[in-house]
This record gives sequence, structure tokens and C-alpha cells, in this order.
Amino acid sequence: MFDVEKIRNDFPILASKVNGKNLVYFDNAATTQKPRRVIDALVKYYSEQNSNVHRGVHFLSDKATTLYENSRKTIAEFINAGKPEELIFVRGTTEAINLVAYSYGMENINSGDEIMVSTLEHHSNIVPWQILCQKKNAVLKVIPINDDGELDMDAFKKLLNSKTKIVSVNHISNSLGTVNPAAEIIKLSHDAGAVVFIDGAQSVQHLKVDVRELDADFYAFSGHKMYGPTGIGILYGKEKLLDSMRPYQSGGDMIKNVSFELTTYNELPYKFEAGTPDISGAIVLSEAVRYINSIGLDNISRHEHELLEYGTAKLREIEGFRLYGNAKNKASVISFLLEGIHPYDTGTILDKMGIAVRTGLHCTEPLMKRFGIPGTVRASIAMYNTKSELDSLFEGVKKAKRMLT
Ligand code: PMP
Repeated sequence: MFDVEKIRNDFPILASKVNGKNLVYFDNAATTQKPRRVIDALVKYYSEQNSNVHRGVHFLSDKATTLYENSRKTIAEFINAGKPEELIFVRGTTEAINLVAYSYGMENINSGDEIMVSTLEHHSNIVPWQILCQKKNAVLKVIPINDDGELDMDAFKKLLNSKTKIVSVNHISNSLGTVNPAAEIIKLSHDAGAVVFIDGAQSVQHLKVDVRELDADFYAFSGHKMYGPTGIGILYGKEKLLDSMRPYQSGGDMIKNVSFELTTYNELPYKFEAGTPDISGAIVLSEAVRYINSIGLDNISRHEHELLEYGTAKLREIEGFRLYGNAKNKASVISFLLEGIHPYDTGTILDKMGIAVRTGLHCTEPLMKRFGIPGTVRASIAMYNTKSELDSLFEGVKKAKRMLT
């Protein structure tokens, strides 16, 4: 059923050569490549459908508006949201977090309140909360991790208290691949009276997400990490929370009536979509969702897991290979160092062999500090990767080690 070669043929860029070698793309946690039907949908939009949304009575405006709103429905079904209106089109996960930190946070956080993140977080899920804490004289608390890169759930339970107002953690860590127990975190946080934001930037492309089953208050993800375009992402929020929040940005589309004396705001989701949105991005994102659905997240997950185990076992054969992130529940990331070798040097040699990996902090500086390392080499796996590409990575890492020691 799952035919990786067939899938690879859907991605034109995978046939490229880099430095005279076949491209081996293992930087999927940074951004994924795009299947032809996503690229075609973008061309089709600008060739046949382009118009501004929600504004005109003419044919094209109606068409673009219908496609835009249908896309919201498709993505809402993808994460099993209760209503499409609970989905806000944003630029990506970063904007989604900023929106909630600003809009929900400014209204609901007071002096002495606590906001909790974890050691595993991306800078996007730290800095907006930190700024909010500074503005409101609130306190940022941090859930520690163990040496395998798993959240210390006992410490989390101890940190939770009646002052905890927001808990914001990722579903899957971009640096270590740890799959966090999101449902349990949400349940415990709700019991303590806190609302929960789940950063799903690394999850919706790897596992089936059901926001209602999770009971997440907010859930965010980025189109470009799930085979869709850059510049578009989703903020999901429970209707009653979004309804209670003030607009994040203001201008056209987010208003109901404007006068110089008083302006009233539009209903959900438009209240949070000021100005002309990324119409093409929003429409094309649903094509990426249809593509993922056509392969099946269960199949994707199984394939990626097999590769993760295969690649990790193989790389472990190399003397001096040190793996970071050894969680029992882990997805699609192999983060490592070669003893005595800077990650940047390993990455540069791999690049000469046509192998794209990410090196450095992966926007998780506090996490790297926790391990006392200058960063890692990160190979992150997508549905189109193969065992033979992992063999190339293995040979590449061995070569890097020979050259650098
Ligand atoms: N959170 C996590 C876990 C991520 O991996 C990323 C992207 N690396 C982000 C947030 C930010 O996503 P974006 O840059 O698409 O806004």
C-alpha cells in the first residue's frame, strides 16, 4: 500500500543533484518539500482563481472566497475541530503563539500569575510568553526534562498550582523528536484551572491529531512543515476562548462597522484575520492536507518510525556517535554529535555529499544548554525518505569522522 518510490515521484525537487550528488533531504523539521499537486494548486490559483476574498460580488471574488472557506473546512476536519470558525489562518506557528500571548495573555494574565513552558520548547514558544510575563509581572516556569529528553511529569505536577494560568508545550520536539503526553498535560492543567496551548509545528505531519479528543484549548501548526506553502499556518482555538478574546491586529475584514466614534468587530474567524490574508497559501494548504490524507497518517507514521529505528541503530555503530533524545515515544528526528567534532563541520561535509541536515541550536538554545552542548546535527525524516538515504547518511557521517579526527 505504502509505496515510497511512488511518493518520491510526486516531489520534483527530490530528483535534484546537489554538488553533483543525488539530493538526500533530511532537513524536514525545518521545512518539508512540496508535492507536485501542491505546486500545481498554487499555479492554478494565480492562473485561474486569483481575487481578493470576502469583498466582491463578482465571479472571481466569489470563487476565491469559496475556495478559501472550503480550505478552512478541510483543515478543520483534518484536526477534528468542532467548527471551521475555530481555525484562524495565520502566518505559521510563531504568529499563532504571538496572537494568543498578546490577545488572550494581555487580557487574562495578572501580576503574580504563572505561565509554564518546558525545556524542550522552540524559541517561538518561549519568547512571546516571556515578553508577556515581563509586561504583566507574571512568572515563567519551566518543566524540566530527563537525560533521555522526556518531560519530567512528576516535576510538572509539582509545578502546577492555582497560579498557573497558561501551559504551553510542544506536541513533538523539533530538536529531539520526543512525543510529549499532550492529553495528560492538558488534563492535569485543566484540573489546575490553566488553559493549554499545544505547539503542533512538528506533529500534524507525523501523527493523527484530534484537537477535541486532546481537549486542547489552542493548537497551532505551520503549512510549510506539512508539505504545504510557506507563509500560512493555523491557530485552532476553542470557540468560547476565541470569542472572549480581543483582536490581535486591526484593519479591514476584522470589523463589523466602523465609525470615528465606535468600531465593532467581526465574528469568528474574521475577527483575527485583519487585512488581505495569504489567500493562495490558505487555499493550497488544503491541497497539502488532501495529499497527506491520500497517503494516510498511519502509513506515514509507520514508515517514518521504521526509518527512525533503522537509521538510529545504524548510526550507533559509529564509534563516538552520541544520540540526543532517547524518549520511549519518539518521532522522526535523529539528533547527534560525533565526539570531539563541532556539528557545523559534520554538516558541511555532509553537504558536500548532497546530504541536507540541520546543524546548530535548532531554535532551542535553553535545551542545548541543558545538555551542555553547542548544538547537534539533526537528521529529520519525512514520508519520502528511504533506508538507502539513511545508508548514505551513515556513510557520510563515517566519512566526516575520518576527515575530522
Ligand atoms: N515550534 C516548533 C516545535 C517548531 O519546530 C517550529 C519551526 N521550527 C516553530 C515552532 C516555529 O514555526 P514557524 O517558523 O513555521 O512559525
